[in-house]
Amino acid sequence: MVLVVAVLVIEDDLRIRSSLAERLAERGHDVETSDRAMAGVELALTGRFDVVVLDLGLPDIDGADALRMIRSVSTVPVVVATARDDESEVIRLLDAGADDYVFKPYSADHLEARIRAVLRRTAPASEDRIVVVGALMMDVDAHHATLAGESLDLTAKEFELLAYLAERAGKMVSKRELLAEVWRQPYGGADKTVDVHLSWLRRKLGETAADPRWIHTRRGVGVKLVDPDA
Ligand code: CA
Repeated sequence: MVLVVAVLVIEDDLRIRSSLAERLAERGHDVETSDRAMAGVELALTGRFDVVVLDLGLPDIDGADALRMIRSVSTVPVVVATARDDESEVIRLLDAGADDYVFKPYSADHLEARIRAVLRRTAPASEDRIVVVGALMMDVDAHHATLAGESLDLTAKEFELLAYLAERAGKMVSKRELLAEVWRQPYGGADKTVDVHLSWLRRKLGETAADPRWIHTRRGVGVKLVDPDA
């Protein structure tokens, strides 16, 4: 499962900026960059971004001032990146409205984990959850799914079932769990209910039980969704 995030990276160091943009884009995120604080603040205020990564040592304005400018008008989550391994400075920035911080040098993996943590804490309930597994994309809250860019015509239950599996892609899920979570039958129900919906889903995903691509079942264990092109 991939959470696609629009990230703004404000960083004047070309090497850090371009490698970070590249690593985040490789992971499917939408990345824009700015090498100046002022231009970065303007971009941050467009509302296009889920999160802003802000370097504190910028040539035109001090990063802490840039943070204050963003905070005075926007609640966009901000992760500050600082070379200053200084606890009092970090506390000052968190007080000034930073949502999290990373010390340089940091890896894209580490930053991505921080971004996920920040978004978990700050995401409003109405935020659209986008789940991507290979060519399958599901906008969970909008109840809309596409396969290779084509809309999938799913019933409400089919959608819920597919979303539940897509959010746990690669992991075996028992039919008992599906009955409890998707059909809200915590004390069990007919496995047949799940089987029937899985066969409908298979048809819509263009596969059969005899020749599975996305949906793999194991008797007595459960079912999992996988990216057939991975
Ligand atoms: Ca810098």
